[in-house]
Amino acid sequence: MSQLWDFSGGIHPPENKIQSTRRPIRTAGIPERLILPLQQHIGVQAEAMVSEGDRVLKGQKIGDVTAGMGVPVHAPTSGIIQAIELRPVPHPSGMSDLCVILQPDGKDEWADLYPVENYQKHDRDEVLQLIRDAGISGMGGAGFPTTIKLRPPRDRKVETLILNGAECEPYITADDMTMRERAAEVVSGMQVMAWILRPSRCVIGIEDNKPEAIAALREAIQGTQIEVSVIPTKYPSGGEKQLVQILTGLEVPSGGIPADIGVMCQNVGTAVAVSRAILEGKPLISRIVTITGDAVQEAGNFDTLLGTPVRALLSEAGLQTNLLNRLVQGGPMMGYTLTTDSVPIVKTSNCVIAATAQELQAPPPEQPCIRCGECAEACPMELLPQQLFWYSKAEEFEKAEHLNLFDCIECGACSYVCPSSIPLVQYYRFAKGEIRTQREEQLKSDRARERFEARQARLEREQQEKEQRRKERAKAAAEAQAKKKAEAEQAAADSEVVDDRSAKAALVQQALERKKAKAAQTKAESSAVQEQPDLETLEKQVTQAEAKLNTMQGMLNEAKAEQADNVDKLERAVAKNHDRVKRAKDALAEARKHVPAEPETPSSE
Ligand code: SF4
Ligand code: SF4
Repeated sequence: MSQLWDFSGGIHPPENKIQSTRRPIRTAGIPERLILPLQQHIGVQAEAMVSEGDRVLKGQKIGDVTAGMGVPVHAPTSGIIQAIELRPVPHPSGMSDLCVILQPDGKDEWADLYPVENYQKHDRDEVLQLIRDAGISGMGGAGFPTTIKLRPPRDRKVETLILNGAECEPYITADDMTMRERAAEVVSGMQVMAWILRPSRCVIGIEDNKPEAIAALREAIQGTQIEVSVIPTKYPSGGEKQLVQILTGLEVPSGGIPADIGVMCQNVGTAVAVSRAILEGKPLISRIVTITGDAVQEAGNFDTLLGTPVRALLSEAGLQTNLLNRLVQGGPMMGYTLTTDSVPIVKTSNCVIAATAQELQAPPPEQPCIRCGECAEACPMELLPQQLFWYSKAEEFEKAEHLNLFDCIECGACSYVCPSSIPLVQYYRFAKGEIRTQREEQLKSDRARERFEARQARLEREQQEKEQRRKERAKAAAEAQAKKKAEAEQAAADSEVVDDRSAKAALVQQALERKKAKAAQTKAESSAVQEQPDLETLEKQVTQAEAKLNTMQGMLNEAKAEQADNVDKLERAVAKNHDRVKRAKDALAEARKHVPAEPETPSSE
């Protein structure tokens, strides 16, 4: 037998469990209307996936959460969607919420199911997704989505997996009967969760006032690594933090969760739902509900379709309306009064007490606190209920928070023992609600301030950027202007040089052109002369050259005859004149070649 520890405080109220465990679990009938709230757990409300007039099959998804923490809602039987509207839901405030109204068609026709027998061959994430798609949320407490709980932070390895079968609250026996009659499913569901989490220890904690359930579980765990740990009956040993302490000796730190110390707690009903989801492919569409109290003739547990109105269940349990004084959802310690019996059974509904006036008497008027300290003795969380009461009543919420108000599990042990009949838990709930409201308002205000500051910062930044852009534009314009001016000046300077050069070049060009023109003219004239040789002139030149030659030849002859000194000179002159005569004759001959032939004079015949 494993070692057990104790937690401080606790009480032993009358159990009142025997009334509802005399009969086996009964299957509640299908009611005329099923009222299915789209939010049945902590987190985000599901969105309806059906419309009025749609026919749905049993197990078909009719609502789901697309963003945020939540799980889907399924049709508990086949039928027609009658409406999607606000209806009263189980809540301490008596509030209404959006519900899908399903009119059963009596066929109870299942949608296709996809069981996974060898889940060990699948990826863990796939199995977790199947659990989520089956719409499973915690069935023993506030209804935290099970998939999220089964995904602890990576840095928090779960060493111990606990199945909470303590069910310490008076009257409630849903878990007890589940363990008695569905022990195999409890164990197989725990095995699925253990396969996901890989803890080194798996233990089912169960109070010693449930011998039949203990026996059934001990038989079911044969051949497994799971332990059944029987713990002393004391309220509230079923509180998550208390059960962890009893079974492990570890204390969950203030403000923390069991995963912080390597522990995870799941409810036995949740384990059955997980088993059915994986091994049978069935979504969460029903649960075991204890209907008890002296106002019903046949108290017991009912396997009830979600959405069944409490009124229908009470009827099945033989409600004696003349005896009914008060309807309580949950147990007498932590439950709350229902303002109407038209509210539906939801995933977290474990018990409805139809109490007579004698059974759950109205509390006597509140008396002043006598500072007896009984409340502190009873508190399982080792808080100071008396001081918490003062601060809550005086609305000194900050001081109440400093005394760990939020560690209070609202078990009601302090109220139960208070001799002054002070409804202490109501004060704590009021204080918590006010603090949450203040926090939300503070959060809203902070967000509004942050938005305002972000807007201001954005506007300033935009203004600065605008100014910067303006400066850059001005600078660029000034630079462009300066550049343009410099280019213009350079162009002007270059232009002057070019003009000067151009002028000079033009002059040179003009001179060249003149010269060229002159040369051309000369050539033309020359050509013209050549082209039209003057034969007469040439003949004259020949005659003159010959005459001069004769003269010079005579003079030479005379000089030779006289043997004068100028003979040589005259000989050179004669030779020169010979050349001249020759050139003149050549020119004449050349010219005569270009003279067109005179047409022949026709001969007379
Ligand atoms: S039990 Fe009641 S009367 Fe006694 S100290 Fe606590 S609040 Fe005061
Ligand atoms: S209701 Fe809160 S303060 Fe009172 S006994 Fe329980 S945990 Fe302690």
